[in-house]
Amino acid sequence: MDVNSHAEELASDLGVDKAEVKADLENLLEYSVPIDEAKQSVRRKHGGGGGGSSPTPESVDLVEITTDHGNVTATVRVLTRGTRTIRYQGDDLTIREGELADGTGTISYTAWQDFGFEPGDSLTIGNAGVREWDGEPELNLNESTTVAIADEPVAVDHEVGGDRDLVDIAAGDRGRNVEVRVLEVESKTISGRDGETEIREGVVGDETAKLPFTDWDPRPDLEVGADLRIEDVYAREFRGVPSINLTEFTTVTPLSEPVSVAESAPRLSVGEAVASGGMFDVEFVGNVLEVRDGSGLIERCPECGRVTQNGQCRSHGEVDGEDDLRVKAILDDGTDTVTVVLDDELTAEVYGGGLDEALAAAKDAMDKDVVAESIADTLVGGAYRVRGSLSVDEYGATLDATAFEEADDDPAESARAALAEVGR
Ligand SMILES: [Zn+2]
Repeated sequence: MDVNSHAEELASDLGVDKAEVKADLENLLEYSVPIDEAKQSVRRKHGGGGGGSSPTPESVDLVEITTDHGNVTATVRVLTRGTRTIRYQGDDLTIREGELADGTGTISYTAWQDFGFEPGDSLTIGNAGVREWDGEPELNLNESTTVAIADEPVAVDHEVGGDRDLVDIAAGDRGRNVEVRVLEVESKTISGRDGETEIREGVVGDETAKLPFTDWDPRPDLEVGADLRIEDVYAREFRGVPSINLTEFTTVTPLSEPVSVAESAPRLSVGEAVASGGMFDVEFVGNVLEVRDGSGLIERCPECGRVTQNGQCRSHGEVDGEDDLRVKAILDDGTDTVTVVLDDELTAEVYGGGLDEALAAAKDAMDKDVVAESIADTLVGGAYRVRGSLSVDEYGATLDATAFEEADDDPAESARAALAEVGR
């Protein structure tokens, strides 16, 4: 086929003037653009889509999308956009990810190239792939996907932009912005996929919560006491709680106003906190139901610190254990139970004596269990206020306590109050 015939065919497909199409085609061919590409380009210019070989998939509402869909077209508002480099089939790829919304719902997306859109933009996304991510459908924006500004702004019920309080950060969040004070920070060398890498780890806080962070592109701005706006972070689970991750794409800007940091931990019901999947700093009030085995006077492996059973470490076999104090107590607030772990200092407080007193008591009775029994006599049935870091795994919920004291309020009342406070 010559240019004339191509132009005739295109003009008839697109319903536009043949002379105009022919001029466009010839112009492109002059620059050595292959004829198929030139035709696609002319089609796009005249609003004819990608060339007819892949028909535009049906337009759908986000709420309708399931993992059974192949490709879809949707008109959406961009809520958030995070940038991250991932290693994909041996190559470092920069991807954009976040959430989209329309009037019916929200969906996560991953864009494998930079389409240039930003939070707040209203777009018609054509021919996006649907894949399953974390059990939910997610849109995949790839080289076959078209992104165009929507004819009208898309109205949504959701917050546009990634600004969040720390208490609302959950593992899996991407493209978040936080305003925080740095509370703790230390440098660390790790063996990463590219050899030894220096990172910085610490804790940040705002008036709602505290969270651990990792800066993978260590920058000096993150020093103790600094008040910062940190844009484009993602959150992942680290030791059972959400952790904030700063990448090379994250921007850090000093704030002129100081960030106030909550003195107290957020008070939640145990059920609510467990459902959230883990919290770095949380407070419960509940009744101690039981003091579990492995409490009181225990021995730890000198190599790894694990509690030994009959002089055996799970990793190091028979070892000469070191004496220590610990409590594992089951706390119940009427919504759920959690295993509260007290370290040696908190255990000494509830026992009324340190390691020396505990060893002396065990020697007198010729029985180590007297220490745990004495602690159980004190704790079981009592109401306690406990604060610490909550992790949740397949074995249940564990709170590593940083504070533990008798509660003067009724736990059931407190749990109801905590639920009301969260407003769920
Ligand atoms: Zn060991």
